[in-house]
Amino acid sequence: MYDENNIFAKIIRGEIPCEKVYEDDEVLFFKDINPIAKVHVLGIPKSQCVDFSDFIYKNTPTTISEFFNKTHLVIEKLGIAKDGYKVISNSGTNGGQEVPHFHIHILGGQKVNLSI
Ligand code: AMP
Repeated sequence: MYDENNIFAKIIRGEIPCEKVYEDDEVLFFKDINPIAKVHVLGIPKSQCVDFSDFIYKNTPTTISEFFNKTHLVIEKLGIAKDGYKVISNSGTNGGQEVPHFHIHILGGQKVNLSI
């Protein structure tokens, strides 16, 4: 069940400010408020999706691929494509997801010491 009052839903509605990196009708990319790398940007679809699985279940292959193509455009815009980066999505309890609106973390600008 999607919580319409989660913090990213409030950011999408403009009720809470954020530092935007890229926005269009479908997606929003903005800086993480508590960065763990020199570059730490979050990417979200504006549609109501709780987590990665919910995003896949609810959307067409076209919408899904557009989200990830835009993710890469943002990575290029951030200037981190050449030196490398991590793209991470925490999903659900075992994935350590805190905000229940599907999002990806883009981490770079330095060696990102998060190991899996
Ligand atoms: P996750 O653990 O994958 O759910 O990550 C949620 C992320 O959202 C964390 O990295 C937080 O620092 C970030 N975050 C929480 N509130 C805000 C906010 N108001 N603006 C930007 N980032 C936020």
